[in-house]
Amino acid sequence: MSGVIPFNKHAFIGRELEYVAQATQSGHLGGDGPFAKRCQSLLECELKAGKVLLTSSCTHALEMAALLLDIQPGDEVIVPSFTFVSTANAFVLRGAKPVLADIRSDTLNIDESQLERLITPRTKAITVMHYAGVGCEMDAINGIAASHEIPVVEDAAQSLFARYHRQSLGTFGALAAFSFDSGKNFTCGEGGMLIVNDEQYVERAEIIREKGTDRNRFFRGEVDKYTWADVGSNYLLSDIAAAYLYAQLEMREHIQAQRRQIFERYADSLREWAAVCGVKLPATPPHCEHNAHQFHLLLPSLARRNALITYLKSRSVTSLFHYLPLHLSPMGATWGYKRGDCPVAEDVSDRLIRLPFFTSMTEAEQARVIESVCQFAP
Ligand SMILES: *Cc1c(COP(=O)(O)O)cnc(C)c1O
Repeated sequence: MSGVIPFNKHAFIGRELEYVAQATQSGHLGGDGPFAKRCQSLLECELKAGKVLLTSSCTHALEMAALLLDIQPGDEVIVPSFTFVSTANAFVLRGAKPVLADIRSDTLNIDESQLERLITPRTKAITVMHYAGVGCEMDAINGIAASHEIPVVEDAAQSLFARYHRQSLGTFGALAAFSFDSGKNFTCGEGGMLIVNDEQYVERAEIIREKGTDRNRFFRGEVDKYTWADVGSNYLLSDIAAAYLYAQLEMREHIQAQRRQIFERYADSLREWAAVCGVKLPATPPHCEHNAHQFHLLLPSLARRNALITYLKSRSVTSLFHYLPLHLSPMGATWGYKRGDCPVAEDVSDRLIRLPFFTSMTEAEQARVIESVCQFAP
């Protein structure tokens, strides 16, 4: 019964340092090195995805998506209000207005029934974020997007190896962004990837990620010198980070099995308590397979949620909440958004709590969290 149980500990599985040592000895420390290539082909194959490009973060992968879609000042991009800021910011950086959508109360994903109403002649992209690795309603979303010829961008930051109708998340949109930051199932500290499912964007994506140069064509021997070909930036991942990441991707089955076990233990142990206390456990529709990214609860009220966080803290258990809906943020106000615009996001944001969840969590640690939660008076 001692020590604080943290909310998260980054995954560390075993061969990370060995591969980092190999990367440093290989002499290729920069982007698209031998470990990056291994990660990319493993992921393309495992996800049955289009082109996988490792990036320095998910935020940067989203910025690449905004550049690839030629987002211009005055364009509109549909974004769920209940998401991390980067889903919106990547497009706002290019001058777009985020058109904020409310979420479904079951999966907390974007409410696809609102899309038709939000689409205007200026809509240049629809972004979706698969909350906690549970897929958005991609059949409906892609259908609406296709009928208006609007590209879909998936913020799949939390969704690696999760599936919707047996198809990997991150393979439904024209473009999809993933994160390997230290809070995700697989990490290299800071890192991400862009999946380019629509082939028309592949060549330009390589150029944009390479400082706007056609260096990739040069390396493949397709041109005899490389030059400034387009706008771009440096969105590459160092091979030191890719080596660290590869050690984890190799162990994906082990990592995911551990995490599924933690998720199931929470669900089984808290079901009864939740029913008695009017608390809602995470919902996964039957056609979705989540990836055990996190475990969250919806308490009956803001006051009860905050009381649970305080109670757990007094028992040395760290819990967190998120997201403050984007439409209620100071940035959201600059486009005139106000309370009441996305009522489900507002309600969920008040009542949600996330329990400690990390791959290396021991049964004893988890038992302490569960016991503490169950002792919290409803
Ligand atoms: C983690 C996360 C991001 C940011 O990822 P970085 O790699 O840190 O840029 C973006 N969107 C969502 C939904 C996330 O969970």
